[in-house]
Amino acid sequence: MTHQPASARADDAPYWDAALETQSREAWQAQTLALLQRHLQHAYYNAPWYRASFDAAGVHPDQLRSLDDLRRFPTIDKRTLRARQDAAPPWGDLVAVPERDIVYISASSGSTGAPTASPFTAQDFDEWIDYEARQFWSSGLRATDRYAHSLNFSLFVGGPCVLGAQKLGALSIHAGTLPSERLLFILRQFQATAIWTTPSYAWYLGETAIREGIDPKRDLAVRRIFVAGEPGGSIPETRAGIEALWGASVYDYYGLSDIFGSCAGMCEAKDGLHWAEDHIHVEVLDPATQAPVREGERGELVLTTLRKSARPMIRFRTGDIVSFTSEPCRCGRTSIRMHGVHGRLDDMLIIKGVNIFPSDVEALVRADADLTGEYRLVVDRVGHLDRLTVQIERRHDDNGLDAALVHRFGGHLKAVTGVSAGIEVLAPGTLPRATHKAKRVEDRRAHVWA
Ligand SMILES: [Zn+2]
Repeated sequence: MTHQPASARADDAPYWDAALETQSREAWQAQTLALLQRHLQHAYYNAPWYRASFDAAGVHPDQLRSLDDLRRFPTIDKRTLRARQDAAPPWGDLVAVPERDIVYISASSGSTGAPTASPFTAQDFDEWIDYEARQFWSSGLRATDRYAHSLNFSLFVGGPCVLGAQKLGALSIHAGTLPSERLLFILRQFQATAIWTTPSYAWYLGETAIREGIDPKRDLAVRRIFVAGEPGGSIPETRAGIEALWGASVYDYYGLSDIFGSCAGMCEAKDGLHWAEDHIHVEVLDPATQAPVREGERGELVLTTLRKSARPMIRFRTGDIVSFTSEPCRCGRTSIRMHGVHGRLDDMLIIKGVNIFPSDVEALVRADADLTGEYRLVVDRVGHLDRLTVQIERRHDDNGLDAALVHRFGGHLKAVTGVSAGIEVLAPGTLPRATHKAKRVEDRRAHVWA
């Protein structure tokens, strides 16, 4: 009996699926339209809610003759999912297959409100994992890697993504959310070459290692870090900081529990996140008018699944503010790319009429060598005026330069965002360190009026 390797691709093959990944934009669009026509029919005839909402809007899947026609169909959002789940428990009536065909559900992390379930058929699950393998491949992961998956497995759709690495042939360590000391032990003992976690945890873990006398660059073998869940991975200054700490390359991924574990990710050129366009159709819309924005402009990400049969998602408003490009990437892939998530519609602060996201502040904080990189935005109301205070931490114990820091940082912030904010310089280690998702905004305005 001969041994069959898990992945038959040569390690130096640039693509997981060359014909698909490098096809022309016209070919992508033709493929999307064909998949979309089939998927809308499936949703309409098998999911009661889609049939009702399309009928109410006076549209029918037969009317979809171009990608632009999709704009005639109604959008849905997280509130819709929650309401339909309550109306037709336990999974909601956006589900389009009998329960006997469902083999897996994840539940959203539920940072606001009740969690919603995301069901998969066996075929949905297999296609998803095949996509995860393709994405890992595009970020340079190979069968020779030892990959420690450090995301939560409990109900979280990020958990099974590890199977993509396994399908690719990498030795996969299902680490999950271990305590930091234990995870560092595993990384050191097994000499893992790649991990996946959140940006703030990658930062925290690197600092913890150093505090424990472990030099990540010398004592650990991690050379690739995949990150998701926060804007940091697409902020060059944050990525550079984590890369310097670890001596590793950082790749930003984007996922959504209501669709896939990861739906877009950075290739080795690291110039935006490539979308899984054979699985998901992407629209970027002006949140106020619902009209598509031009390439490069910021708008709300609206997603439509193309294959996921258990629960089709037709025009799902994510609440994430992104910008995108369809220019060819240096890597040769032709799928559209987004330049990270600038913020959540919910996190967008409007200070004296100016929009500002925590990620705008993060880029400045990470670029200043006199700061630790931690920060927090505090908003309160004085009289009838909103007031923004940005808390930053100096790197050194000496407070002699605080006044100069306030002046310099406040000036940069005003220049970049147009917002005048109070700057508060804190001693190093004052702000809470995140072990999962960092909370960067404290809005005290609600309490003022409570
Ligand atoms: Zn690329």
